[in-house]
Amino acid sequence: MSATFTVINPATAQPIREIGRASLDEVDDAIARAVRAQRAWAGSAPVARADALRAFARAVEDHVEELAQLEVLNSGHPIGSARWEAAHVAQVLNFYAGAPERLSGQQIPVAGGLDVTFHEPYGVVGIIVPWNFPMTIASWGFAPALAAGNAVVLKPAELTPLTALRLGELALEAGMPEGLFTVVTGSGSVVGQRFVSHPDVRKVVFTGSTGVGTDVAAGCARNLKPVTLELGGKSANIVFDDADLELAAASAPGAVFDNAGQDCCARSRILVQRSVYDRFLELLEPAVRDWQVGDPALESTQMGPLISASHRSTVASFLDGADVAFRGSAPEGDGFWFAPHVVLASPQDRLAQEEVFGPVVAVLPFDDEADGIRLANDTIYGLAGSIWTENLGRAVRVSRAVKSGVLSVNSHSSVRYWTPFGGMKASGLGGELGPDAAEHFTETKNVFFATDAP
Ligand code: NAP
Ligand code: MG
Repeated sequence: MSATFTVINPATAQPIREIGRASLDEVDDAIARAVRAQRAWAGSAPVARADALRAFARAVEDHVEELAQLEVLNSGHPIGSARWEAAHVAQVLNFYAGAPERLSGQQIPVAGGLDVTFHEPYGVVGIIVPWNFPMTIASWGFAPALAAGNAVVLKPAELTPLTALRLGELALEAGMPEGLFTVVTGSGSVVGQRFVSHPDVRKVVFTGSTGVGTDVAAGCARNLKPVTLELGGKSANIVFDDADLELAAASAPGAVFDNAGQDCCARSRILVQRSVYDRFLELLEPAVRDWQVGDPALESTQMGPLISASHRSTVASFLDGADVAFRGSAPEGDGFWFAPHVVLASPQDRLAQEEVFGPVVAVLPFDDEADGIRLANDTIYGLAGSIWTENLGRAVRVSRAVKSGVLSVNSHSSVRYWTPFGGMKASGLGGELGPDAAEHFTETKNVFFATDAP
Protein backbone atom coordinates (compact mmCIF):
# COMPACT_ATOMS: atom_id res chain seq x y z
CA MET A 1 0.00 0.00 0.00
CA SER A 2 1.34 3.46 -0.83
CA ALA A 3 2.38 5.66 2.05
CA THR A 4 0.16 8.56 0.99
CA PHE A 5 -3.37 9.14 -0.24
CA THR A 6 -4.39 11.95 -2.59
CA VAL A 7 -7.29 14.03 -1.29
CA ILE A 8 -9.55 15.29 -4.10
CA ASN A 9 -11.86 18.32 -4.31
CA PRO A 10 -15.17 16.70 -5.32
CA ALA A 11 -16.47 19.89 -6.96
CA THR A 12 -13.54 20.07 -9.40
CA ALA A 13 -12.04 16.55 -9.36
CA GLN A 14 -8.65 18.25 -8.77
CA PRO A 15 -6.13 16.96 -6.21
CA ILE A 16 -5.78 19.05 -3.03
CA ARG A 17 -3.09 17.44 -0.91
CA GLU A 18 -1.24 14.20 -0.16
CA ILE A 19 -2.08 12.73 3.23
CA GLY A 20 0.05 10.14 5.01
CA ARG A 21 -1.16 6.62 5.64
CA ALA A 22 -0.20 5.49 9.12
CA SER A 23 1.54 2.13 9.44
CA LEU A 24 0.59 -0.33 12.17
CA ASP A 25 3.61 0.82 14.21
CA GLU A 26 2.51 4.43 13.92
CA VAL A 27 -1.01 3.54 15.07
CA ASP A 28 0.45 1.63 18.01
CA ASP A 29 2.64 4.62 18.91
CA ALA A 30 -0.39 6.92 18.94
CA ILE A 31 -2.25 4.47 21.17
CA ALA A 32 0.74 4.21 23.55
CA ARG A 33 0.89 8.02 23.83
CA ALA A 34 -2.86 8.06 24.46
CA VAL A 35 -2.51 5.54 27.29
CA ARG A 36 0.04 7.80 29.03
CA ALA A 37 -1.92 11.01 28.44
CA GLN A 38 -5.15 9.44 29.66
CA ARG A 39 -3.73 8.58 33.10
CA ALA A 40 -2.86 12.20 33.81
CA TRP A 41 -6.11 13.49 32.27
CA ALA A 42 -8.34 11.18 34.34
CA GLY A 43 -6.37 12.14 37.45
CA SER A 44 -6.80 15.87 36.92
CA ALA A 45 -9.53 17.87 38.67
CA PRO A 46 -12.95 17.81 36.99
CA VAL A 47 -12.85 21.59 36.67
CA ALA A 48 -9.46 21.37 34.91
CA ARG A 49 -10.92 19.00 32.29
CA ALA A 50 -13.96 21.25 31.90
CA ASP A 51 -11.73 24.30 31.40
CA ALA A 52 -9.56 22.47 28.86
CA LEU A 53 -12.62 21.45 26.82
CA ARG A 54 -13.97 25.01 26.92
CA ALA A 55 -10.61 26.30 25.66
CA PHE A 56 -10.75 23.73 22.84
CA ALA A 57 -14.31 24.92 22.05
CA ARG A 58 -13.14 28.55 21.91
CA ALA A 59 -10.32 27.61 19.54
CA VAL A 60 -12.86 25.95 17.24
CA GLU A 61 -15.17 28.99 17.48
CA ASP A 62 -12.26 31.21 16.48
CA HIS A 63 -11.61 29.03 13.41
CA VAL A 64 -15.15 28.36 12.20
CA GLU A 65 -14.53 30.10 8.90
CA GLU A 66 -11.25 28.29 8.25
CA LEU A 67 -12.76 24.89 9.12
CA ALA A 68 -15.82 25.63 6.97
CA GLN A 69 -13.67 26.57 3.97
CA LEU A 70 -11.67 23.35 4.41
CA GLU A 71 -14.90 21.33 4.38
CA VAL A 72 -16.08 23.10 1.23
CA LEU A 73 -12.76 22.20 -0.41
CA ASN A 74 -12.54 18.59 0.77
CA SER A 75 -16.20 17.51 0.98
CA GLY A 76 -18.04 19.87 -1.37
CA HIS A 77 -20.46 20.92 1.37
CA PRO A 78 -22.21 24.23 0.65
CA ILE A 79 -20.50 26.98 2.63
CA GLY A 80 -23.65 27.70 4.67
CA SER A 81 -23.82 24.07 5.81
CA ALA A 82 -20.08 23.90 6.45
CA ARG A 83 -20.22 26.95 8.75
CA TRP A 84 -23.09 25.34 10.65
CA GLU A 85 -21.05 22.13 11.01
CA ALA A 86 -17.93 23.89 12.33
CA ALA A 87 -19.95 25.94 14.82
CA HIS A 88 -21.74 22.74 15.87
CA VAL A 89 -18.40 21.17 16.87
CA ALA A 90 -17.74 24.09 19.22
CA GLN A 91 -21.25 23.75 20.68
CA VAL A 92 -20.82 20.02 21.24
CA LEU A 93 -17.50 20.66 23.02
CA ASN A 94 -19.09 23.36 25.18
CA PHE A 95 -22.04 21.14 26.04
CA TYR A 96 -19.88 18.20 27.16
CA ALA A 97 -17.48 20.57 28.95
CA GLY A 98 -20.29 20.58 31.54
CA ALA A 99 -19.98 16.83 32.05
CA PRO A 100 -16.78 16.33 34.11
CA GLU A 101 -18.33 18.01 37.15
CA ARG A 102 -21.66 16.23 36.69
CA LEU A 103 -20.61 12.57 36.33
CA SER A 104 -22.09 11.77 39.73
CA GLY A 105 -22.30 8.20 40.94
CA GLN A 106 -24.80 6.84 43.44
CA GLN A 107 -24.81 6.15 47.15
CA ILE A 108 -26.83 2.99 47.74
CA PRO A 109 -28.17 2.04 51.18
CA VAL A 110 -26.47 -1.05 52.64
CA ALA A 111 -26.05 -2.50 56.13
CA GLY A 112 -22.67 -2.29 57.89
CA GLY A 113 -21.06 0.25 55.63
CA LEU A 114 -21.21 2.63 52.72
CA ASP A 115 -21.80 1.70 49.08
CA VAL A 116 -20.93 4.11 46.28
CA THR A 117 -20.58 3.89 42.51
CA PHE A 118 -18.04 5.63 40.27
CA HIS A 119 -18.22 6.34 36.53
CA GLU A 120 -14.75 5.23 35.47
CA PRO A 121 -13.44 6.17 32.02
CA TYR A 122 -12.61 3.24 29.73
CA GLY A 123 -9.12 4.55 29.00
CA VAL A 124 -8.45 4.98 25.28
CA VAL A 125 -11.46 5.24 22.94
CA GLY A 126 -11.06 4.61 19.19
CA ILE A 127 -13.40 6.59 16.95
CA ILE A 128 -13.89 5.68 13.27
CA VAL A 129 -15.89 8.16 11.18
CA PRO A 130 -17.23 8.30 7.61
CA TRP A 131 -16.76 10.95 4.94
CA ASN A 132 -20.23 12.42 4.83
CA PHE A 133 -20.07 14.74 7.88
CA PRO A 134 -16.39 14.61 8.83
CA MET A 135 -16.38 17.21 11.61
CA THR A 136 -19.72 16.84 13.30
CA ILE A 137 -19.77 13.05 13.60
CA ALA A 138 -16.21 13.04 14.97
CA SER A 139 -17.21 15.57 17.65
CA TRP A 140 -20.16 13.46 18.78
CA GLY A 141 -17.58 10.86 19.79
CA PHE A 142 -14.54 12.80 20.94
CA ALA A 143 -16.25 15.53 23.01
CA PRO A 144 -18.16 13.26 25.44
CA ALA A 145 -15.35 10.67 25.45
CA LEU A 146 -12.77 13.27 26.52
CA ALA A 147 -15.20 14.81 29.00
CA ALA A 148 -15.58 11.44 30.71
CA GLY A 149 -11.82 11.19 31.26
CA ASN A 150 -10.79 9.12 28.23
CA ALA A 151 -8.10 9.69 25.62
CA VAL A 152 -9.21 9.51 21.98
CA VAL A 153 -7.63 8.23 18.78
CA LEU A 154 -9.70 9.36 15.80
CA LYS A 155 -9.61 7.89 12.30
CA PRO A 156 -11.22 10.09 9.67
CA ALA A 157 -12.28 8.60 6.32
CA GLU A 158 -9.40 8.71 3.83
CA LEU A 159 -11.54 10.76 1.46
CA THR A 160 -12.10 13.57 3.99
CA PRO A 161 -9.32 13.94 6.58
CA LEU A 162 -8.63 17.69 6.37
CA THR A 163 -10.99 19.12 8.99
CA ALA A 164 -10.26 16.31 11.45
CA LEU A 165 -6.52 17.00 11.14
CA ARG A 166 -7.13 20.69 11.75
CA LEU A 167 -9.28 19.91 14.82
CA GLY A 168 -6.39 17.82 16.17
CA GLU A 169 -4.05 20.82 15.78
CA LEU A 170 -6.56 23.19 17.36
CA ALA A 171 -6.84 20.92 20.40
CA LEU A 172 -3.09 21.21 20.94
CA GLU A 173 -3.07 24.97 20.27
CA ALA A 174 -5.82 25.31 22.88
CA GLY A 175 -3.64 23.56 25.45
CA MET A 176 -5.09 20.05 25.46
CA PRO A 177 -2.37 17.64 26.62
CA GLU A 178 -0.16 16.07 23.94
CA GLY A 179 -1.31 12.56 23.01
CA LEU A 180 -4.77 12.92 24.54
CA PHE A 181 -6.58 13.48 21.24
CA THR A 182 -4.75 12.15 18.18
CA VAL A 183 -6.00 12.08 14.62
CA VAL A 184 -4.56 9.05 12.81
CA THR A 185 -4.98 9.02 9.03
CA GLY A 186 -4.96 5.90 6.92
CA SER A 187 -7.20 3.16 5.64
CA GLY A 188 -10.00 1.50 7.51
CA SER A 189 -8.50 -1.94 7.03
CA VAL A 190 -5.23 -0.88 8.76
CA VAL A 191 -5.95 1.98 11.18
CA GLY A 192 -9.61 1.18 11.86
CA GLN A 193 -8.93 -2.51 12.33
CA ARG A 194 -6.07 -1.74 14.72
CA PHE A 195 -8.46 0.20 16.94
CA VAL A 196 -10.60 -2.94 16.99
CA SER A 197 -7.75 -5.37 17.74
CA HIS A 198 -5.44 -3.31 19.99
CA PRO A 199 -5.83 -4.37 23.64
CA ASP A 200 -5.34 -0.81 24.95
CA VAL A 201 -8.28 0.63 22.97
CA ARG A 202 -11.09 -0.16 25.40
CA LYS A 203 -14.09 1.13 23.46
CA VAL A 204 -14.80 1.71 19.76
CA VAL A 205 -17.27 4.13 18.21
CA PHE A 206 -17.95 3.36 14.57
CA THR A 207 -20.07 5.42 12.18
CA GLY A 208 -20.40 4.15 8.64
CA SER A 209 -22.00 1.45 6.56
CA THR A 210 -23.94 -1.44 8.05
CA GLY A 211 -21.64 -3.96 6.34
CA VAL A 212 -18.36 -2.62 7.75
CA GLY A 213 -20.05 -1.87 11.09
CA THR A 214 -21.08 -5.51 11.44
CA ASP A 215 -17.44 -6.60 10.92
CA VAL A 216 -16.21 -4.00 13.41
CA ALA A 217 -18.75 -5.23 15.97
CA ALA A 218 -17.66 -8.86 15.40
CA GLY A 219 -14.01 -7.87 15.93
CA CYS A 220 -14.91 -5.95 19.09
CA ALA A 221 -16.86 -8.97 20.37
CA ARG A 222 -13.77 -11.18 19.95
CA ASN A 223 -11.84 -8.65 22.05
CA LEU A 224 -14.73 -8.19 24.55
CA LYS A 225 -14.78 -4.51 23.70
CA PRO A 226 -17.90 -2.34 23.85
CA VAL A 227 -18.85 -0.71 20.56
CA THR A 228 -21.26 2.01 19.52
CA LEU A 229 -22.53 1.69 15.95
CA GLU A 230 -24.16 4.46 13.90
CA LEU A 231 -24.99 2.84 10.57
CA GLY A 232 -27.09 3.27 7.45
CA GLY A 233 -30.70 4.32 6.99
CA LYS A 234 -33.67 4.28 4.64
CA SER A 235 -35.82 6.74 6.51
CA ALA A 236 -39.45 7.42 5.69
CA ASN A 237 -41.10 10.79 5.27
CA ILE A 238 -44.75 9.85 5.88
CA VAL A 239 -47.32 12.29 4.51
CA PHE A 240 -50.94 11.77 5.63
CA ASP A 241 -53.94 13.23 3.82
CA ASP A 242 -54.62 15.54 6.79
CA ALA A 243 -51.14 17.13 6.57
CA ASP A 244 -50.27 20.66 5.53
CA LEU A 245 -49.37 19.39 2.05
CA GLU A 246 -47.77 22.64 0.87
CA LEU A 247 -45.37 22.64 3.81
CA ALA A 248 -44.69 18.92 3.53
CA ALA A 249 -43.88 19.20 -0.18
CA ALA A 250 -41.80 22.36 0.16
CA SER A 251 -39.61 20.81 2.85
CA ALA A 252 -39.27 17.33 1.33
CA PRO A 253 -36.30 18.13 -0.99
CA GLY A 254 -34.20 19.45 1.91
CA ALA A 255 -35.00 16.33 3.93
CA VAL A 256 -33.38 14.05 1.37
CA PHE A 257 -31.16 16.16 -0.90
CA ASP A 258 -29.31 18.00 1.85
CA ASN A 259 -25.59 17.05 1.56
CA ALA A 260 -26.50 15.51 -1.82
CA GLY A 261 -28.39 12.75 -0.03
CA GLN A 262 -25.18 11.61 1.66
CA ASP A 263 -26.85 11.75 5.03
CA CYS A 264 -27.61 8.74 7.18
CA CYS A 265 -30.87 10.49 8.19
CA ALA A 266 -31.95 11.30 4.62
CA ARG A 267 -35.69 10.83 4.19
CA SER A 268 -35.09 8.77 1.06
CA ARG A 269 -38.58 7.27 0.97
CA ILE A 270 -41.59 9.55 0.75
CA LEU A 271 -44.72 7.61 1.70
CA VAL A 272 -47.84 9.47 0.63
CA GLN A 273 -51.44 8.60 1.45
CA ARG A 274 -53.11 7.56 -1.80
CA SER A 275 -55.91 10.16 -1.60
CA VAL A 276 -53.36 13.04 -1.80
CA TYR A 277 -50.63 11.26 -3.81
CA ASP A 278 -51.18 13.10 -7.12
CA ARG A 279 -51.58 16.48 -5.44
CA PHE A 280 -48.40 15.94 -3.39
CA LEU A 281 -46.34 15.09 -6.49
CA GLU A 282 -47.67 18.24 -8.22
CA LEU A 283 -46.44 20.31 -5.27
CA LEU A 284 -43.13 18.44 -5.00
CA GLU A 285 -42.06 18.95 -8.61
CA PRO A 286 -41.44 22.73 -8.48
CA ALA A 287 -39.70 22.37 -5.10
CA VAL A 288 -37.27 19.86 -6.63
CA ARG A 289 -36.71 21.98 -9.73
CA ASP A 290 -35.92 24.99 -7.51
CA TRP A 291 -33.37 23.05 -5.43
CA GLN A 292 -30.06 24.86 -6.02
CA VAL A 293 -27.24 22.51 -7.02
CA GLY A 294 -23.89 24.09 -7.79
CA ASP A 295 -20.67 25.67 -6.59
CA PRO A 296 -20.42 24.91 -2.86
CA ALA A 297 -18.52 28.16 -2.27
CA LEU A 298 -21.68 30.18 -3.06
CA GLU A 299 -24.02 31.19 -0.24
CA SER A 300 -27.05 30.44 -2.44
CA THR A 301 -26.08 26.82 -3.08
CA GLN A 302 -28.18 24.17 -1.37
CA MET A 303 -26.37 21.08 -2.65
CA GLY A 304 -22.87 20.36 -3.89
CA PRO A 305 -21.37 17.33 -5.65
CA LEU A 306 -21.15 13.71 -4.56
CA ILE A 307 -17.97 12.74 -2.73
CA SER A 308 -16.16 10.72 -5.43
CA ALA A 309 -16.33 9.37 -8.96
CA SER A 310 -16.80 5.84 -7.68
CA HIS A 311 -19.61 6.87 -5.35
CA ARG A 312 -21.29 8.66 -8.26
CA SER A 313 -21.23 5.40 -10.28
CA THR A 314 -22.82 3.57 -7.37
CA VAL A 315 -25.57 6.17 -7.05
CA ALA A 316 -26.19 6.16 -10.82
CA SER A 317 -26.56 2.35 -10.80
CA PHE A 318 -29.71 2.74 -8.68
CA LEU A 319 -31.44 4.47 -11.61
CA ASP A 320 -31.14 1.46 -13.96
CA GLY A 321 -34.72 0.66 -14.90
CA ALA A 322 -36.14 3.15 -12.39
CA ASP A 323 -39.40 5.02 -13.07
CA VAL A 324 -38.13 8.62 -12.85
CA ALA A 325 -41.03 11.04 -12.26
CA PHE A 326 -38.93 14.22 -12.50
CA ARG A 327 -35.48 15.54 -11.71
CA GLY A 328 -33.69 18.70 -10.69
CA SER A 329 -30.57 20.15 -12.23
CA ALA A 330 -26.81 19.84 -11.75
CA PRO A 331 -23.82 21.63 -13.27
CA GLU A 332 -21.92 20.13 -16.21
CA GLY A 333 -18.20 19.61 -16.21
CA ASP A 334 -15.59 18.30 -13.81
CA GLY A 335 -16.68 17.41 -10.33
CA PHE A 336 -18.85 14.53 -9.21
CA TRP A 337 -22.20 16.18 -9.98
CA PHE A 338 -25.50 14.37 -9.82
CA ALA A 339 -28.94 15.91 -10.24
CA PRO A 340 -31.69 15.22 -7.69
CA HIS A 341 -34.08 12.51 -8.89
CA VAL A 342 -37.61 11.63 -7.80
CA VAL A 343 -38.60 8.04 -8.67
CA LEU A 344 -41.89 6.19 -8.31
CA ALA A 345 -41.29 2.86 -6.59
CA SER A 346 -42.95 -0.29 -5.26
CA PRO A 347 -42.23 -1.62 -1.77
CA GLN A 348 -39.87 -4.43 -2.85
CA ASP A 349 -37.86 -2.34 -5.34
CA ARG A 350 -34.17 -1.92 -4.62
CA LEU A 351 -34.78 1.85 -4.42
CA ALA A 352 -37.34 1.32 -1.66
CA GLN A 353 -35.14 -1.05 0.35
CA GLU A 354 -31.46 -0.09 -0.01
CA GLU A 355 -29.63 3.01 1.09
CA VAL A 356 -28.59 5.03 -2.00
CA PHE A 357 -26.63 7.71 -0.11
CA GLY A 358 -27.22 10.08 -3.01
CA PRO A 359 -29.90 12.53 -4.21
CA VAL A 360 -32.48 9.95 -5.24
CA VAL A 361 -35.82 9.72 -3.46
CA ALA A 362 -38.42 6.97 -3.86
CA VAL A 363 -42.10 7.91 -3.62
CA LEU A 364 -44.60 5.21 -2.62
CA PRO A 365 -48.36 5.42 -1.96
CA PHE A 366 -50.13 3.90 1.07
CA ASP A 367 -53.80 3.38 1.94
CA ASP A 368 -54.42 4.16 5.61
CA GLU A 369 -52.61 4.68 8.91
CA ALA A 370 -51.90 0.98 9.47
CA ASP A 371 -50.60 0.59 5.92
CA GLY A 372 -48.38 3.67 6.28
CA ILE A 373 -46.84 2.32 9.50
CA ARG A 374 -46.31 -1.11 7.94
CA LEU A 375 -44.57 0.41 4.92
CA ALA A 376 -42.44 2.73 7.08
CA ASN A 377 -41.19 -0.31 9.01
CA ASP A 378 -40.65 -2.43 5.88
CA THR A 379 -36.83 -2.08 5.64
CA ILE A 380 -33.93 -3.47 7.65
CA TYR A 381 -33.14 0.07 8.87
CA GLY A 382 -34.56 2.25 11.65
CA LEU A 383 -32.64 5.49 11.94
CA ALA A 384 -34.80 8.59 11.36
CA GLY A 385 -38.16 9.60 9.92
CA SER A 386 -40.77 12.32 9.61
CA ILE A 387 -44.52 12.27 10.09
CA TRP A 388 -46.75 14.91 8.51
CA THR A 389 -50.26 15.18 9.96
CA GLU A 390 -52.43 17.80 11.64
CA ASN A 391 -54.08 15.09 13.77
CA LEU A 392 -52.44 15.01 17.20
CA GLY A 393 -53.64 11.51 18.11
CA ARG A 394 -52.31 10.16 14.83
CA ALA A 395 -48.97 11.92 15.34
CA VAL A 396 -48.60 10.23 18.73
CA ARG A 397 -49.74 6.79 17.50
CA VAL A 398 -47.50 6.78 14.43
CA SER A 399 -44.44 8.13 16.20
CA ARG A 400 -44.75 5.31 18.75
CA ALA A 401 -45.28 2.66 16.06
CA VAL A 402 -42.44 3.52 13.68
CA LYS A 403 -39.32 1.60 14.73
CA SER A 404 -36.74 4.35 14.29
CA GLY A 405 -34.47 6.08 16.76
CA VAL A 406 -35.00 9.71 15.70
CA LEU A 407 -38.40 10.94 14.51
CA SER A 408 -39.85 14.37 13.93
CA VAL A 409 -43.46 15.44 13.45
CA ASN A 410 -44.21 18.22 10.96
CA SER A 411 -40.49 18.90 10.52
CA HIS A 412 -37.36 17.04 9.45
CA SER A 413 -35.03 17.79 12.31
CA SER A 414 -32.72 14.97 13.40
CA VAL A 415 -29.82 16.44 15.26
CA ARG A 416 -29.81 18.61 18.33
CA TYR A 417 -26.65 17.89 20.29
CA TRP A 418 -28.49 18.03 23.64
CA THR A 419 -31.06 15.38 22.63
CA PRO A 420 -30.26 11.70 22.02
CA PHE A 421 -29.40 10.38 18.55
CA GLY A 422 -29.11 6.78 17.41
CA GLY A 423 -30.62 4.05 15.27
CA MET A 424 -32.71 0.93 15.80
CA LYS A 425 -32.56 -2.37 13.85
CA ALA A 426 -29.72 -2.38 11.25
CA SER A 427 -29.15 1.36 11.79
CA GLY A 428 -27.13 0.95 14.92
CA LEU A 429 -26.41 -0.06 18.45
CA GLY A 430 -26.14 2.34 21.39
CA GLY A 431 -26.62 6.05 21.03
CA GLU A 432 -24.85 9.37 20.90
CA LEU A 433 -25.46 12.97 21.95
CA GLY A 434 -28.03 14.07 24.52
CA PRO A 435 -27.66 14.49 28.28
CA ASP A 436 -26.19 11.00 28.94
CA ALA A 437 -23.52 10.63 26.23
CA ALA A 438 -20.54 11.23 28.52
CA GLU A 439 -21.75 8.39 30.75
CA HIS A 440 -21.67 6.07 27.71
CA PHE A 441 -17.90 6.51 27.79
CA THR A 442 -17.62 5.18 31.33
CA GLU A 443 -18.09 1.88 33.11
CA THR A 444 -19.65 1.71 36.54
CA LYS A 445 -17.54 0.64 39.49
CA ASN A 446 -19.23 -0.31 42.77
CA VAL A 447 -17.31 0.00 46.05
CA PHE A 448 -18.45 -1.16 49.48
CA PHE A 449 -16.70 0.37 52.48
CA ALA A 450 -17.22 -1.62 55.68
CA THR A 451 -17.81 0.58 58.71
CA ASP A 452 -18.63 -2.09 61.29
CA ALA A 453 -15.95 -4.34 62.74
CA PRO A 454 -16.16 -7.79 61.11
P1 NAP B 1 -17.74 2.87 5.43
O1 NAP B 1 -17.20 2.43 4.16
O2 NAP B 1 -18.38 1.88 6.32
O3 NAP B 1 -16.52 3.61 6.19
C1 NAP B 1 -16.68 4.27 7.42
C2 NAP B 1 -15.34 4.36 8.12
O4 NAP B 1 -14.88 3.05 8.43
C3 NAP B 1 -14.25 5.00 7.26
O5 NAP B 1 -13.40 5.76 8.10
C4 NAP B 1 -13.52 3.79 6.72
O6 NAP B 1 -12.17 4.05 6.38
C5 NAP B 1 -13.59 2.86 7.90
N1 NAP B 1 -13.43 1.44 7.56
C6 NAP B 1 -13.56 0.85 6.34
N2 NAP B 1 -13.31 -0.48 6.43
C7 NAP B 1 -12.99 -0.72 7.73
C8 NAP B 1 -12.64 -1.89 8.45
N3 NAP B 1 -12.57 -3.09 7.87
N4 NAP B 1 -12.39 -1.78 9.77
C9 NAP B 1 -12.47 -0.59 10.40
N5 NAP B 1 -12.81 0.55 9.77
C10 NAP B 1 -13.08 0.49 8.45
O7 NAP B 1 -18.82 4.01 5.26
P2 NAP B 1 -18.72 5.26 4.30
O8 NAP B 1 -18.91 4.77 2.93
O9 NAP B 1 -17.52 6.04 4.62
O10 NAP B 1 -19.97 6.12 4.84
C11 NAP B 1 -21.28 5.93 4.41
C12 NAP B 1 -22.10 5.13 5.40
O11 NAP B 1 -22.08 5.71 6.71
C13 NAP B 1 -23.57 5.10 5.04
O12 NAP B 1 -24.06 3.80 5.14
C14 NAP B 1 -24.23 5.99 6.07
O13 NAP B 1 -25.57 5.74 6.31
C15 NAP B 1 -23.39 5.75 7.25
N6 NAP B 1 -23.54 6.85 8.22
C16 NAP B 1 -24.24 6.65 9.37
C17 NAP B 1 -24.41 7.68 10.28
C18 NAP B 1 -25.18 7.49 11.56
O14 NAP B 1 -25.01 8.32 12.45
N7 NAP B 1 -25.99 6.47 11.70
C19 NAP B 1 -23.85 8.92 10.02
C20 NAP B 1 -23.15 9.09 8.83
C21 NAP B 1 -23.00 8.04 7.95
P3 NAP B 1 -11.65 4.40 4.89
O15 NAP B 1 -12.86 4.68 4.08
O16 NAP B 1 -10.79 5.58 5.12
O17 NAP B 1 -10.89 3.21 4.43
MG1 MG C 1 -16.61 3.08 2.15
